[in-house]
Formats: sequence, structure tokens, C-alpha cells
Amino acid sequence: MSSVQVAVVTGSNKGIGLAIVRALCRQFPGDVYLTSRDPGRGQAAVAQLQREGLQPLFHQLDIDDLQSIRALRDFLKEKYGGLNVLVNNAGIAFKVQDTTPFAVQAEVTLKTNFFGTRNVCTELLPLMKPYGRVVNVSSMVSSSALKGCSPELQQKFRSDTITEDELVQLMTKFVEDTKKSVHQKEGWPNTAYGVSKIGVTVLSRIQARLLNESRKGEHILLNACCPGWVRTDMAGPKATKSPDEGAETPVYLALLPSSADAPHGQFVSDKTVRPW
Ligand code: NAP
Repeated sequence: MSSVQVAVVTGSNKGIGLAIVRALCRQFPGDVYLTSRDPGRGQAAVAQLQREGLQPLFHQLDIDDLQSIRALRDFLKEKYGGLNVLVNNAGIAFKVQDTTPFAVQAEVTLKTNFFGTRNVCTELLPLMKPYGRVVNVSSMVSSSALKGCSPELQQKFRSDTITEDELVQLMTKFVEDTKKSVHQKEGWPNTAYGVSKIGVTVLSRIQARLLNESRKGEHILLNACCPGWVRTDMAGPKATKSPDEGAETPVYLALLPSSADAPHGQFVSDKTVRPW
């Protein structure tokens, strides 16, 4: 088993994820895994970084596929005996002009952004080594969507005692409510992406709390963040930040020094903790 440190970035064949891998290859003292659901796109991205003089490694990972997540888990366990840095970056968003029915958009978006991310956490968080760093890429849209929720939902999502099961039930209810066209009556905002990112931010708060309870003294820090508005296929060419600029806050959180005991369980943008 290798004693080398290891970092994994989900959805890193392009966009912000690729830029996070680039920065980690330069700054992280260990192996950095670029992962992609499509091996061809992943290997092409590895080749791109190799041309820049960097040496990322590759592993397939589709966060919608539990078998794929478990194959990565088993590989990490066997080769490294765990994991030092996990960046949950993979995500999707329908374009504003997309005419796919809202209920379908809700189901598909929540499946990857919330349930896929959660499955990665369920399988990989037990592998985190002491002083590990976990970064869940959420969005400022999670904050604006939270403000668009009913007072009852806002209170639940801001609660310091909400459980992961309760969060899963709420995310599932959103999808079901969209199918019955009652989501707005039930207090939800009219944004599937926004609700999925509420899920990612609240999941991060819950997971940080669980780490405090079950792995106190291991100094693992876990946070959610917003990369900013970044020029990628998702956000388009008018966005204000380059992918490398968008990677700055996720990389800052992934490389928090071993002496740091904060931030933890926070929502961070521009390297600054934001109120939730
Ligand atoms: P992007 O350019 O569309 O890249 C998304 C990445 O996620 C791609 O590599 C994509 O792979 C991957 N992905 C999607 N579904 C996946 C799955 N099931 N399994 C594994 N990988 C999957 O988007 P981006 O702008 O870089 O976004 C990265 C993250 O930042 C997302 O979580 C996004 O919500 C968040 N974010 C972005 C912005 C922004 O302004 N761009 C703002 C706030 C938050 P494929 O190439 O195979 O599709």
C-alpha cells in the first residue's frame, strides 16, 4: 500500500473541475486523480494537462452510478489505504431556455447534484484520513433559492439538528411535488438547480456535524463553497471568472493547512465564510 497522499476531484474532465486538478497538481504534495464518467473525455483532459507539464492520474467515476463510485472506493482503499482530499465538483444544470418539463429537470438535476454527490460522500467519507479535506462545490444559487423557500422550509434547511435522512426526504419530496405541480404551493422555489444546491450546502453542514461527533480529534475539515460565476459550458462565455479563478476557493478549502481548525461545516465563497 502506498503512503503517498491522494486527492480526488469529481467531474474534472472540463470546466472548474479540470482547473481544480490543474491547481492541485501544482500545489498538492501527492497523487491527484482527474475523474470523468467518460474515459475518453477523461484521458483527453489528462493529455491536456500533461502538455502543460503536469502529471494527473485518471480514474473513471460516474457519480450517478453506485458501482462506479464503489469501484473508485475499493481502488483508493487498496492502493492508498484511504483518501486525503475529496472535491465533489461534478454537477449539471439545464439551460434556462431548455423546454424539458420542469418535473423531469427536477428529477434529473437532483439525481446528480444531490443524490449522486451524497452517494460519493457515503462511500468515500469513511476513507478520509486524519487532516483530510472535503470540498462540496455548491453555489450562491443555494442561498438565493433558500430565501425563495417558505419560512417553514427555510427553518428546516437552517436547522442545526436536521438529519441526513430528513434532508433526503425533503429533496425527494421536492421531486415528487414537481410531478404533481404543487411544488410552489408546498413552499419550494421554482428552481431545480437551486434546490439541488440547497441540498449540497445543507448536506455539508450535516456531514461536518457528524464528523465532529464521530471522528473528533481527526482534524478533518469539510465545507461547501461557491466557485463564483465561471466561464464554462455550464455558465457560458459571459461569466466573470476564468476556470482557474473559479478553482481558487475550492482549492483553498482543499489545501487548508494541518494547523487549521476552521472553516468547517461552512458555506464559503471568495475564500470567505458566508451566512447561511
Ligand atoms: P461544466 O463545465 O458543465 O462541468 C461539469 C463537470 O461535471 C463535467 O466534467 C461533467 O462531465 C461532470 N459531470 C456531470 N455529471 C456527472 C456525473 N454523473 N458523474 C461524473 N461527472 C459528471 O460545469 P462547471 O461550471 O465546471 O461546474 C462545476 C461545478 O461548479 C458544478 O457543481 C456546478 O454546479 C458548480 N458551479 C458552477 C458555476 C459556474 O458559474 N460555472 C457557479 C456555481 C457553481 P461530462 O463532460 O461528462 O458532462
